[in-house]
Amino acid sequence: MIQVKELTKEFKNGKNRKLTVLNNINLEIEDGDIFGIIGMSGAGKSTLIRCINLLERPTRGHIIIDGTDITEVRGKNLHALRKNIGMIFQNFNLLMQKNVRKNIAFGLEITKLKDFKIPGMNAENYKKLNYFQKRKAKKAEINKRVDELLELVDLREKEYYYPAKLSGGQRQRVAIARALATRPSILLCDEATSALDSKTTDSILKLLKRINEETKVTIIVITHEMNVVQKICNKVAVIDKSEIVACGYTEDVFQNNSSEIVRNLVGGIM
Ligand code: ATP
Ligand code: MG
Repeated sequence: MIQVKELTKEFKNGKNRKLTVLNNINLEIEDGDIFGIIGMSGAGKSTLIRCINLLERPTRGHIIIDGTDITEVRGKNLHALRKNIGMIFQNFNLLMQKNVRKNIAFGLEITKLKDFKIPGMNAENYKKLNYFQKRKAKKAEINKRVDELLELVDLREKEYYYPAKLSGGQRQRVAIARALATRPSILLCDEATSALDSKTTDSILKLLKRINEETKVTIIVITHEMNVVQKICNKVAVIDKSEIVACGYTEDVFQNNSSEIVRNLVGGIM
């Protein structure tokens, strides 16, 4: 579960001036939720999810993931935290010089020998393996994981393509596979379908929903497209002027549109 407690984020805005982008935000996101966050441009949506993976440090308040207050996390543990939280973006953020396989493997690549962890290997055998054997075993492990991910996002036949030769929907599939490579329990999506046409949007939403059902990954979806919320989010929070103005099951929030901002955002959908 993700608990956001009294979260405030201020940016320094020139000398002695500050901009409060998030003001005392409280949220609870349960495991397996597909949780929508909606609001006008500049409302603070991206800042909120950037706080959840500590790309931004909150000014005040707490973010508690499965009982651990991540605002206290630093150094090495930050690395582990990021492995547990994948993120995808509107503009995909792929590495243009690397093919699909290498893009997906990016977060899994060998950095230091001591990071080697081979599933099923006991400590005794682990010691006996020499450097090159370890490296080979780790590479085989990475390749196997990339194969699984290619299947998951249905991109087997594009595995050696470079991003420039892929469609927008295919690029987002690569980004999803990369984000899921380390088996995170949370996937953050910041306007992930905003650059796609409606048919491609539908296929990406179906994929996200299937992944949510199969892996139970918790998904947080930021979007300005109400049909996206309606199609996949079981719950939704509405942010306006740095504050949460409505939150609950999607149906309820869309129907009880008592505040003007909710009416403006949701208007015409239900
Ligand atoms: P959009 O729908 O347009 O993506 P958003 O709801 O995601 O908007 P944010 O990107 O969270 O909005 O930005 C909220 C406010 O915070 C904006 O006024 C923005 O200028 C400001 N802001 C965001 N990042 C910074 C920063 N690093 N420094 C200063 N101000 C920032
Ligand atoms: Mg944004």
